[in-house]
Amino acid sequence: MNILITNDDGVHAQGLLVLKAALDRVGRVFVVAPDRPRSACGHSITLHKPLRAEKVRLRDDSIAYASNGTPSDCVSLALLGMISEPIDLVVSGINHGPNLGWDLTYSGTVSAAMEGAIMGKQSFSISVATFSPDVDYGITARFAAEIARVLEKHPLPESTLFNVNVPGLPASDIMGVKVTKQGKRRYSGALEKRTDPMGRDYYWLGGDMPVDTLDEGTDVKAIADGWVSVTPVHLDLTEYGSIETARSWGVEDIGII
Ligand code: MN
Repeated sequence: MNILITNDDGVHAQGLLVLKAALDRVGRVFVVAPDRPRSACGHSITLHKPLRAEKVRLRDDSIAYASNGTPSDCVSLALLGMISEPIDLVVSGINHGPNLGWDLTYSGTVSAAMEGAIMGKQSFSISVATFSPDVDYGITARFAAEIARVLEKHPLPESTLFNVNVPGLPASDIMGVKVTKQGKRRYSGALEKRTDPMGRDYYWLGGDMPVDTLDEGTDVKAIADGWVSVTPVHLDLTEYGSIETARSWGVEDIGII
């Protein structure tokens, strides 16, 4: 099995290196990743400047490609011919920090796996759900290898990927694995207004920690309770229940002028 690894924390991130060590035992691994941290870049792609990919040496002495593009660009570069071998599986991670609930819409990590799914490949994103600087990626990496083996045996349906989050806990404190649905995680949306030395206003987006709605069966609930969360994610964002509703509002009867 040929495996492509990318991430959004940058090619030299520790999470990528530990993931690679685990996946080296499952198949032949190729690495194409951003040359710098690109967290929260979402699914952005580079259309208006050249994309570059420099060969770099990782700390395990292997060769990787470091690109000035986004995580999604890295997947495109690899699958559209920069890697000459056919790729069977795209793995994005290990992200340093959770990707839960509505994080998925901001996440470069998850978007890279989405790009893999769009291009018809088996794909999953994987994150360790802690921001602790002395995080141990080993448990998450070993779990990634097991998920890779599952997907080798049981291909996901079209336009579907797995989004995996592992608690940042010792193995003995992790409750087990739950297959979940995407939950709700909202950032407080605080806007901090400041003034620069020239007297102009500027802003910081941010605020406090996200607020999770801990509904049963969701990714946010699983992680809050110490479980590994595996969410099958579909690329179809349609809200089917609202198709008829929107018609009933006369949306299709609006005249085009
Ligand atoms: Mn990240």
